[in-house]
Amino acid sequence: MNAFVLAIASLILFFLQCTAADLRSDLHPSSNQYALGYYEGDPLPSKTAFLTFDDGPSDWTSEVLDVLKEENVKATFFVCGAWLPQKSRSGNSFQKYRDTLIRMRKEGHVVGNHTLGHPNLANMSEARIERQLDENERLYRKELGEYSEKLTLLRPPFGSPYNRNLSEEKKKRVSSVLQKKGIVFMWSKAFDSSDSKEWVRGEWYEKGPRINIESDRFRAKMDRIYMKLTSKTDGQGIVILFHDTHPTTKEVLPFVIEKLKEEGYKFGTAEDYAKWRWGKTTKEVLEE
Ligand SMILES: [Zn+2]
Repeated sequence: MNAFVLAIASLILFFLQCTAADLRSDLHPSSNQYALGYYEGDPLPSKTAFLTFDDGPSDWTSEVLDVLKEENVKATFFVCGAWLPQKSRSGNSFQKYRDTLIRMRKEGHVVGNHTLGHPNLANMSEARIERQLDENERLYRKELGEYSEKLTLLRPPFGSPYNRNLSEEKKKRVSSVLQKKGIVFMWSKAFDSSDSKEWVRGEWYEKGPRINIESDRFRAKMDRIYMKLTSKTDGQGIVILFHDTHPTTKEVLPFVIEKLKEEGYKFGTAEDYAKWRWGKTTKEVLEE
């Protein structure tokens, strides 16, 4: 009798486990397929906005930090050591903007790896992809020293290959490297601020005399970004893509944050996301 009950019980348990596993894979469709991370369609905590800034640091990054400080919002920055055009940096970007990067960490923001030179990983060999990530991290740690940490979060340049209509073979090849290196953090497609499109007169990685924030085109670009980011919010979790390489971005940022706050949004970093989703820091997730 006992053996029979036990058999039934373990059968029930088996089915329960299967159902739980099915539910889990429904909730995490893409992570099972590719490197661990957040991808379009993955779960997000409701009424939470994750602000992310790619491609920096640049001349504008410290002003982005000013806005975030004023608004008491923490964000995630995916940095490149050698992406800015040569005329906008001497040596590497981490050296040029070392103080800004130190401040970034001190003020509680999270820093992730966006590769050294911003190539499209889809067409590269595993060894070259690995070098792009390793070199960027090595440079970051060398320049920042005690103010740096392992870059456990990754964002592939252009979001490629994940947000592109590319072969599974390419996606799997890139993923095979990324999953060894960290946790991927993509963004919500509908919440690409589009700040890197339609540059206005004088807009550049560096501050310059030709920028006129009062000009119609500058204001129009700000309006476009603002509308794009605030017209589709209905309480869902969102990962916003910005670039801290544009003056329009830092100008429109306070308005976007204020509007989201009005709607009851809270703000989080990619580390907050890891804690929410896996109950651990990215470092702990990777050590498993
Ligand atoms: Zn980028």
